[in-house]
Amino acid sequence: MASALSEKLSRIVKEMRGQARITEANVADMMREVRLALLEADVALPVVRDFVARVKEKALGQEVVGSLTPGQVLVSVVNRELAATMGQGVADINLAAQPPAVILMAGLQGAGKTTTTAKLAKHLIEKRKKKVLTVSGDVYRPAAIEQLKTVTKQAGAEWFPSTPDQKPVDIAHAALDYARKRHFDVLLVDTAGRLAIDEALMLEIKQLHATLNPVETLFVVDAMQGQDAINTAKAFKEALPLTGIILTKMDGDSRGGAALSVRAITGAPIKFAGVSEKIDGLEVFDAERHAGRILGMGDIVALVEQVTAGVDMAQAQRLAAKVKSGEGFDLDDFLDQIRQMKKMGGLSSFMDKLPSAMAAKASEADLSRAEKDIKRKEGIICSMTPLERRKPDVIKATRKRRIAAGAGVHVQEVNRLLKEFEQMQGMMKKMKGGGLMKMMKRMGG
Ligand code: GDP
Repeated sequence: MASALSEKLSRIVKEMRGQARITEANVADMMREVRLALLEADVALPVVRDFVARVKEKALGQEVVGSLTPGQVLVSVVNRELAATMGQGVADINLAAQPPAVILMAGLQGAGKTTTTAKLAKHLIEKRKKKVLTVSGDVYRPAAIEQLKTVTKQAGAEWFPSTPDQKPVDIAHAALDYARKRHFDVLLVDTAGRLAIDEALMLEIKQLHATLNPVETLFVVDAMQGQDAINTAKAFKEALPLTGIILTKMDGDSRGGAALSVRAITGAPIKFAGVSEKIDGLEVFDAERHAGRILGMGDIVALVEQVTAGVDMAQAQRLAAKVKSGEGFDLDDFLDQIRQMKKMGGLSSFMDKLPSAMAAKASEADLSRAEKDIKRKEGIICSMTPLERRKPDVIKATRKRRIAAGAGVHVQEVNRLLKEFEQMQGMMKKMKGGGLMKMMKRMGG
């Protein structure tokens, strides 16, 4: 995903190449860009200020060890802080209440409340095995009541009728009563939204809250809303004790900066993300992944690789040309690749470039094992004759034994390497140059 921030950081990371520590001087430039980029992603100014100050504090004085660059260290601090601000871990819907557990849905008209109510009903039925009732308190728009009826049916939940001549609080009482008598586990209450915040609306939803005493009060907000999300979030936070946020329309092309603002302003965890108009388009919110989206982390990872690795583009081009011309990818090329990997500063530094969730999966032990593995592979290929490297087909049992002895490994390891090489060769053939160049460009700029 291309993003303005990654482009800007790219430039600064390049400028920072070779510096040994994050200092006031070099962090200032980067933070200025981070700040601009967050604003471009529609994060609210006070949230940006606060965020930038925090990152700066965490980053300052950080030692830049091994083959890492200050830029790289800073990128990972920014990413980690972004994820932390948006809330780590998964916070599923709280249903710890005397049944029925009431969930109140709040938000502006068009935010996706009704759709999300049905999505949530489906989630609770399927994932939590709950018996779910929905009701609409939107007495201003008969169409909204009908809409809830339709989507509730799609979700496989039951819908409690309401009419425009009723008062929302009366509807709430009746639905609650019905839910108790029929032993529903959950009552989802959709509410009226206006196009903008108004006093009457806020008063009404406050009254509903007092009547229903919900275990969850969820603020539904459109991720595409950008800067406006802040004022909406403020108004709803002042009116209601929000327990969670659902960000809708995350399938849109916004950078999703609203997530950071809304989370910071309400203090409530972002529980789910709406990712399509369809009834099953609801996902548990993943802060790490979303940080990546705001930052354009994929690009940053590639760019950081480029900075530390100094991938040899001439060599990559030779390789691409070779594959394209139909010449085979041979063990010499495979060795080059292994060496590129080593040049990048080994696997442990490589892992530092990945989003932390991914990196966390690989333990220290895994990494040192993987690094030893690279060294062994290099040793094996170096024990081969030039002919063997160019034409691996000639490597039969006797040659394998000689190579293994030369590299000080078991024959099985030689076999494993040859197999891996074959897989890589197959992949290269499929790529036919064009795809390969693209990949190399990503790696090497
Ligand atoms: P409400 O006024 O807050 O109840 O909003 P609705 O539930 O009626 O949704 C408004 C519009 O947004 C509808 O056209 C929905 O289909 C659409 N919508 C809701 N959630 C999502 C989402 O996660 N992704 C997309 N693409 N559209 C959504």
